[in-house]
Amino acid sequence: MNTFFEKPGSYRIEKGDWHKKWYLYNVKIVKLLAIMFQGVLRKMITEEGSPIKYFLNLENDFIAFNQYLNRTISLSFDGTECLSCKAEKPIFRQGFCKNCFFEQPAAGDWIMRPELSTAHLGIADRDLEFEKKVQLQPHLVYLSLSSHLKVGVTRNNQIPTRWIDQGAHEAVSILSVPNRYLAGVGEVALKTILSDKTNWRKMLQNDFEPIDWSEAIHQAVDHLPKDLKSYIIADPKIIKLEFPVLQYPEKVKSLNLEKENFYSGVLKGIKGQYLIFEDQTVYNIRSNEGTKVKIEIT
Ligand SMILES: [Zn+2]
Repeated sequence: MNTFFEKPGSYRIEKGDWHKKWYLYNVKIVKLLAIMFQGVLRKMITEEGSPIKYFLNLENDFIAFNQYLNRTISLSFDGTECLSCKAEKPIFRQGFCKNCFFEQPAAGDWIMRPELSTAHLGIADRDLEFEKKVQLQPHLVYLSLSSHLKVGVTRNNQIPTRWIDQGAHEAVSILSVPNRYLAGVGEVALKTILSDKTNWRKMLQNDFEPIDWSEAIHQAVDHLPKDLKSYIIADPKIIKLEFPVLQYPEKVKSLNLEKENFYSGVLKGIKGQYLIFEDQTVYNIRSNEGTKVKIEIT
């Protein structure tokens, strides 16, 4: 950019340069109307509603994001910062640098594989106190429908957050157990008949088959081991979720902001932890935790 664009104030406008004056006037208006945020990305906070409400949780700003549907969002890459040690190091997984990922109790293997939980036996993985706090509390085994029917595990207090984060339209808890280990045992049994993964492309395209829930619940309950039968929820309730999406993408292009450095597009929806843009670009906030961004909204 030349000096006129960088420092419009220092640029001497000659008489008759009306087009430059006009441009300067517009630059000022746009700057006045633009909303700017910056910070380290963390997964979006959500609130139940019709539709679900999304909030971007930056260090100094808590931004209600639904209001920016149909607005142009510009994202600039500004580096990375580990959510745990705050070092400006590359992110390895889950918003952690490599060191923290292998040391933090919040990134133990039992997070992704609940059946590996051992706090109920008094055995530590990385930090027994932390693990007791998280593992020794009521958990649910659920069935959810995003791209297809899947099984999952979550703490009771993470419902419906967990389902919103995975972009499920419908979900039902079928088993209520006192700790994470038992939930893991239930999940492992149900993985023989159901997937535990979401097809995120189909989820974003809103591509799913309707489910006969009573049949699905019946089949799942049949596959639970005997020891878990006493934890079956007698009257399972199907929860329906509505996402703030104006337009689903037909093809899905995933944005790699670190590689591209800058992206700008019109926001058309939010689903799961994804921002969906008009040009079919999608950006997964959760898988980019630890990314420092500058956000401009016009
Ligand atoms: Zn770290």
